[in-house]
Amino acid sequence: IPQQYSKYLASLNERQREAAFSDITTPLMIAAGPGSGKTSTMVGRILVLLSEGIDPSNILAMTFTTAAASEMRERISTVAGKMAAKDLNICTFHSFSLQLCRSHADKLGRTHEFSVFGQGQQRRAVIEAMRLLGNETSGQNNELCKLEEDPITIASTHYCKDKSKKWQKFVTQAKASGKTPGYFTRMGNDIGAAILKHYNETLTTCNSLDYHDLISCSVKLLSDFPEVLKECQNLWKAIIVDEFQDTSSMQYKLLQILASHDHITIVGDDDQSIFSFNGADTSGFDSFREDFPNYKEIRLNKNYRSTRCIVEAAASLIQNNVKRCQLKDVLTDNSLGSKITIKECHNEDAQCMFVIDKILEAISGEPPETASFGNFAILYRRQVSGKVFQAAFRDRKIPFNIHGVAFYRKKVVRVIFSMLNTTLTGCDDGHYRRVFKGLLPLSKEEKKMVVNHIDKISTIRKCSFLTAAFDIFNAKISGTFKRSQLTQGRKLLSTLDMIKDIVQREQSLSTVITSVANMIPQRFLLEQRAIVDNDGGKFLNEDSDLRSVIQYLLDDVASFISIHSATEEYGHEKEERGCLNILKAFIDFISEREKRNFRSRINDNENSVALTTIHQSKGLEWDIVFIVKANESEIPLIHEFTGVPKEDGSSLEEERRLFYVAMTRARKKLFILYVTVDSTWQILQPSRFFKEIPVELLDFQISTGTLKNPANKQCITEEARPDECYVNHTNMSVKDASIMVETSNGNNFLKR
Ligand code: ATP
Ligand code: MG
Repeated sequence: IPQQYSKYLASLNERQREAAFSDITTPLMIAAGPGSGKTSTMVGRILVLLSEGIDPSNILAMTFTTAAASEMRERISTVAGKMAAKDLNICTFHSFSLQLCRSHADKLGRTHEFSVFGQGQQRRAVIEAMRLLGNETSGQNNELCKLEEDPITIASTHYCKDKSKKWQKFVTQAKASGKTPGYFTRMGNDIGAAILKHYNETLTTCNSLDYHDLISCSVKLLSDFPEVLKECQNLWKAIIVDEFQDTSSMQYKLLQILASHDHITIVGDDDQSIFSFNGADTSGFDSFREDFPNYKEIRLNKNYRSTRCIVEAAASLIQNNVKRCQLKDVLTDNSLGSKITIKECHNEDAQCMFVIDKILEAISGEPPETASFGNFAILYRRQVSGKVFQAAFRDRKIPFNIHGVAFYRKKVVRVIFSMLNTTLTGCDDGHYRRVFKGLLPLSKEEKKMVVNHIDKISTIRKCSFLTAAFDIFNAKISGTFKRSQLTQGRKLLSTLDMIKDIVQREQSLSTVITSVANMIPQRFLLEQRAIVDNDGGKFLNEDSDLRSVIQYLLDDVASFISIHSATEEYGHEKEERGCLNILKAFIDFISEREKRNFRSRINDNENSVALTTIHQSKGLEWDIVFIVKANESEIPLIHEFTGVPKEDGSSLEEERRLFYVAMTRARKKLFILYVTVDSTWQILQPSRFFKEIPVELLDFQISTGTLKNPANKQCITEEARPDECYVNHTNMSVKDASIMVETSNGNNFLKR
């Protein structure tokens, strides 16, 4: 064993080492709580396999988020060197399946270039199905669209919105569990069956798959084509799965088939299962026990990550869950550490101020408590709660990175990607539609009119958006457009040709992206900025500045190249075909990452504060963690549409697990903040979960002022405990919106 490997392995404890060295042909299950070194053990196991002479390219390590995958690759490359780490197949379920499906696309009735449907495309396809069926039933059925509803505007109006949301959810769930239209027919759900059938047909005609298809098609490839299975079995000598609790039943099936030689290791913690909306299902542990009866189980029971205070608080929280499949002892040798601070803030601004003060205090104290901004994380339930922090951090010049998808959700970026996508797929109207809306140098209203008209023509003539646009702008169809609009349209069509040309000609992805991005008209950028300005002026600066957008993209190209060593992999074809192939791989990489909630700038997180949703914080750790807006309605989340709390037991338990994941990210100090009023002066309650943490582990800090309603009735005193606040808050009516906040010395310091 190379020296650096043995040094790493020696740092593991006895049980971890036992797991790392255990025989590869015996199925292994490591079930353990947060911070107990599960991932560290996996890394150890991979090192052992490498030292036994197994080729890195024969090891398949799967996990749930791309962030976790890169983290693991990084950990291995520090010990085993970049080369070995590069050849390892560390991937998510989806990137694994995407690769497999691409290589055997012909067996799935697709071509190698198939695209992957996103949410928006899925929604459109569902609406289209509802509309067609609505027509067939002459608009008799309330579940479908009415005949008179304008097909074009359905998506953007409320007509069909709730219904289509419902059906989209139905389709997603059906696909996640691998159900076919036939199943729903048998269940007597004819509409469901028909919608699903239409939806699947759309996927086929568009040469597309959706995210759930990727998994189920992989299962199909492995079960229906013995040669594919054989190929995989020859390739994967070891299969290791982290965060196993998040696998759906379909993903489990994939594993089960792949691991028919028992060479599988699974690692997980059922208490951290937080993706049930994605079909995750902790019964996977039970299935594993059944399907791999000669399995060996190793439990890790020592938390190395967090202070005793945090470990105990989290343990007592999670005890309130009834549905747990493995009860784990929690031990830690770490010191008690300081109490968990529960901080009440008047509103989100105050909350933000508190966090900033704490961070700056720790960084600039004498002696500084910590030297790096990278030791802090701010976790929230919903992405929107991060907004106020972004703005404030920018003002105060505190470096931060937003984990996840924010960047790739920007309109400008989406237009750039759609421009690139038009060079890949023939039939994806969504991309063309977005490009037209982005690039036509017309007013917003004009653009909308033009795009709607193209849509209408394409529906009437049953042709693609592009064909319709082509015929309109080349005056093959008499239309209502002004001459200038036709000219602009024709210009745009030739721009599309130009993009194709660039992709086919240029050899470097960076050049392609830069040239394509530079085609975005100034007008569109200004438009975006105006929208942004209306958003409270919080995002004006760099966000819609094209140069920084391009820089961001180029950074991602660089990290894509380094991860996939794309230059080598795609080198040959590059010569002949420009960078079409590598572009396709890059788009897959980004969309996979976006979908799986990658923290988008993994490289610059070393000295910047992490802003992340709890879901995306999975498997990661920081010295000091702030869980913000820990209010009822946020965590547990109140259901958006019905306004009814998710009182049903299982979702409440999932919310509790989520809070558990959040708490256990902290190494040294945990702050939990909640606000008393939201931006509309709606009174908010503190999270019910606080009551589940032993009081002696908590340090309550009630906001420095006294919150009074206009009648000057005291609502919260400085001595009050959250339980009492809770009562007082409920007594206050929402009408008392002009709340004043009075400091202890009697001055009003916040007044709206
Ligand atoms: P999670 O459930 O959150 O994914 P995990 O079980 O995967 O957690 P790791 O991330 O592997 O835990 O480890 C948590 C921390 O404990 C890391 O900082 C790791 O370096 C440290 N650690 C793990 N094992 C040991 C050990 N034997 N000795 C010292 N530190 C350890
Ligand atoms: Mg882990």
